[in-house]
Amino acid sequence: MSTGKHGSGERDKQFRAFVAPFRIDDPEHFRLKHHATDQTGGLDKDTAKELIEANRLRISQLQEKLYAQDRWSLLLIFQAMDAAGKDSAIAHVMSGVNPQGCQVFSFKAPTAQELDHDFMWRHAICLPERGRIGIFNRSHYEEVLVVRVHSEYLDRQRLPPKLVTRDIWRERFEDIRAFERYLARNGTVILKFFLNVSREEQRQRFLDRLEEPGKRWKFSMGDVAERRLWDKYMAAYQDMVRHTTQPDAPWFVVPADRKWFARVVIGTAIVEAMEKLQLAYPRVDKVSLKEFADVRRALEAEGKEQGKMTRGKSTRGKRGGA
Ligand code: ATP
Ligand code: MG
Repeated sequence: MSTGKHGSGERDKQFRAFVAPFRIDDPEHFRLKHHATDQTGGLDKDTAKELIEANRLRISQLQEKLYAQDRWSLLLIFQAMDAAGKDSAIAHVMSGVNPQGCQVFSFKAPTAQELDHDFMWRHAICLPERGRIGIFNRSHYEEVLVVRVHSEYLDRQRLPPKLVTRDIWRERFEDIRAFERYLARNGTVILKFFLNVSREEQRQRFLDRLEEPGKRWKFSMGDVAERRLWDKYMAAYQDMVRHTTQPDAPWFVVPADRKWFARVVIGTAIVEAMEKLQLAYPRVDKVSLKEFADVRRALEAEGKEQGKMTRGKSTRGKRGGA
């Protein structure tokens, strides 16, 4: 397949092939088991690499405009089981972006201080400012995933018992939807990526981590314990996608058994969302343009003056030395 010149027609084609099938637009009928984890969209690895590189460049150009325009912000949320490739996907896709306009936050088990607040608090204080890209490596969605799978985590949140009913997950979905809609209405574009890896691929990656000295640090015994709860996690993920996909904040269920294909999907989805914003450098008004012309003339005149003086000085120097 040819990647062409990456013009807008080509981009539309890429969007239809590598993003549309994985964006959940019909949440009521979403069934996780209908989403194969090993899809590659008919791509081979070399072509994928070209697309990844083209997306990386495009994201970097668009980010400059996002920053200069200073109106929109972009929030990218990454969720997955362990070893699905979240960290490396984030590193790859964002590697061309100016670090000043981008921030990554990783959310681990909450601290005592965080548990003293409502569950959104720690995420709300990390939201991207206008003009920036914010990345959540895990997010508020852990509140309907790991907390749902381990009810003891909910006990630790010290909620008033009266408020903890069997409706709690439905209520959390509702609150998350409302929160994200509010953010969207304030200029935050939200894209949510669930890196969908198979249990078998995770097993292989854990084995790699155990075998390769450079990867051992990534291995944690806790990850094996979570793996045993695979089906419960998958049920929680499915419910999460069904209840929290909205036009303003869609979920992408990204096939993640081939890391390179996951990166194509993520990069293309980000490019597409940013292109839609029609980002542009701020226009300079007429008055400022006139002022700029005056300043320019003054700077040029100063340069000429400076030139005369240095020439004068060097002649004096020569004379003095003679
Ligand atoms: P990752 O697994 O994302 O690559 P890591 O291995 O470096 O990161 P971990 O120590 O595994 O970091 O921290 C992430 C852990 O924190 C995950 O097991 C996650 O489920 C847990 N966690 C995140 N948010 C919450 C939460 N709100 N309540 C309980 N546990 C949470
Ligand atoms: Mg981990």
